[in-house]
Amino acid sequence: MGTQREIVIYPDERLSKVCAPVTEITDEIRELADDMLETMYKAPGVGLAAPQVGVHLQMVVYDPSEKDEERQPRVLINPEVTLTGEPVVSRQEGCLSVPFGYRADVERSSSIHLKAMGLDGVVFERDIEGFEAIIVQHETDHLKGILFIDRIGRLRRTLFDGKVKKWLKKKQQEEKHQAQQHS
Ligand code: ZN
Repeated sequence: MGTQREIVIYPDERLSKVCAPVTEITDEIRELADDMLETMYKAPGVGLAAPQVGVHLQMVVYDPSEKDEERQPRVLINPEVTLTGEPVVSRQEGCLSVPFGYRADVERSSSIHLKAMGLDGVVFERDIEGFEAIIVQHETDHLKGILFIDRIGRLRRTLFDGKVKKWLKKKQQEEKHQAQQHS
C-alpha cells in the first residue's frame, strides 16, 4: 500500500514542465508508483501522472475498470503514444489537477498505439481504443506539460481562466481570514 501524496493544482507551474525519462526501476520508482495509485484511488480518479504529485519523471498510473468491476491498476513508464484513430469528442473530461471540478469536451483520438515499460522493466506494445485510449492520451499529455484545458479552444480557456482568477482570490481571502482567527 502506498502513501497518499498531495496533488498539484493548476495554475501551479509544475504542471507545465516536460518530464524526463525514467532510466532505472529503483525502489524509489516502485514506491512512487504505489503512492501515485493510492493518491489516485483516494481522490478518486481514473488516472494520475507523476508531475501531478510534483515529480518530473515520465510515469503515469491509471485504472480502466468499470464501476463495480475489480480494480485494474496500470503503471506506464516512459510511455510513447501514437494516435491511430479517428477524432472523437471525449465528453466532459476532467482532471484532478484542474480546480473546482471543471469539465469540458476535448477532441481525442478514438484509438492509440502504446509503447511503454512496466514496473518489471519489460517494454510492451499495445493497441488501445475507447475509454482507456482517452485516459492514456490525457495522462501522457501531462508528461509533456499539457493539460486538457490546453485543448478546449481559446474562448472556453479565457472563460475558464477568469473563473480560476476569482477562485484564487476567494481562496486567498479565506486563508487570510483563517490566519486572522488563529492569531
Ligand atoms: Zn489530468
